[in-house]
Amino acid sequence: MASTSHPSLIDLQDLQLDDARALLEHAGQDSGQASDEPPLAYLQRVINGLCELSLKDPLTGLGNRRHFIATLERAIEVVARSGESILLLLLDIDHFKHINDTHGHLAGDQVLQAVAACLGHCVRPMDTVVRYGGEEFAMILPNCRPNCGRAVAERVRRTIESLSIPVTPLVNLHVTISIGGAYAPEWVRSTTDLWIERADQQLYRAKADGRNQVFLDLPHEISVSAEEKGLLFGHFVMDQAATTPDGAPDGAGHGGHSTHRVSA
Ligand code: GH3
Ligand code: MG
Ligand code: MG
Repeated sequence: MASTSHPSLIDLQDLQLDDARALLEHAGQDSGQASDEPPLAYLQRVINGLCELSLKDPLTGLGNRRHFIATLERAIEVVARSGESILLLLLDIDHFKHINDTHGHLAGDQVLQAVAACLGHCVRPMDTVVRYGGEEFAMILPNCRPNCGRAVAERVRRTIESLSIPVTPLVNLHVTISIGGAYAPEWVRSTTDLWIERADQQLYRAKADGRNQVFLDLPHEISVSAEEKGLLFGHFVMDQAATTPDGAPDGAGHGGHSTHRVSA
C-alpha cells in the first residue's frame, strides 16, 4: 500500500541523530540544521555526509577499502562489457615498520599522510587512489593501455622516491614503495579477489627483488586461473548442451571470448 505520509511531517525529534551528528562534527562537517533548512533537505545532507564518511580513510582522507572494492567491482563490469584496459596497482611502503620504530608512530602517520597526498597528485581525476590497509595503497587506472602501464607505475615510484617528508623541523624522511600491478583479463567477468591476488603476486615479486621496484602482470603474460577459466568458459560448457547436431553453436556467437589470449 502506498504511503500516505507527507515529507513535511518528518519530525527530526523522533530520529536518533546524535551519533550521526557527532560523527559528522568529528570529521569537521557542519552537522546542525540551519533555521531555514527543511527537515527533508537536512536529513539528506546528514545521509550524504555519512555515506561520504563511510568510504573515506580518516588518517589520509583517501578512499578506504570499502570504496576500493566498490570501484573495483564497477571496473570489472566495464572490462567485461567493453574490453577497456584497466590497471590495478598495489603500492606498499618499504620497511615502514622501521620508520615507526625509529621515529615513532606519529612520524609514521605523517609519512602515511604525505605519501597519500603525493599519490593523489600523481594520477588523473578519473583514477582512484585508496588506502588499502596499514601502509598499503591501491590505484585503479581506467583507460590505461598496457604499453603505458609501466611508465605510469614507474612515474609513481620515482615521485615517491624523491619525496621529502618533514616530520620535525630538523628531520626530513624519505621512503620508497614497491608496486605490483595487474590488468583485468579483457572480456572476462573476473572477481575482485582474483584481480587483487594477481596484483599482489606482482607486489610480492617486487619485494623479493629488492623493493623500490615495479612488477606488472601485463595482458600478454596473463595466465588465467582455473577459477577464471570457469568464469570464462562456464557458459560455453552450458552452450554445448544446446548446440545443433553438427556442433555449431545454437544462436549468436560470444564475440570477444574466442579471441581472448589465454595461457594456462
Ligand atoms: P616491507 O618492506 O616488507 O613492506 O616491510 P614493512 O616494514 O613496510 O612491513 P610490515 O608489514 O613489517 O610493517 C608494516 C607496519 O605498518 C607495521 C604497522 O605497525 C605499521 N602501520 C600500520 N598501520 C599504521 C598506521 O596507521 N600508522 C602507523 N604509524 N603505522 C602503521
Ligand atoms: Mg604491507
Ligand atoms: Mg611495507
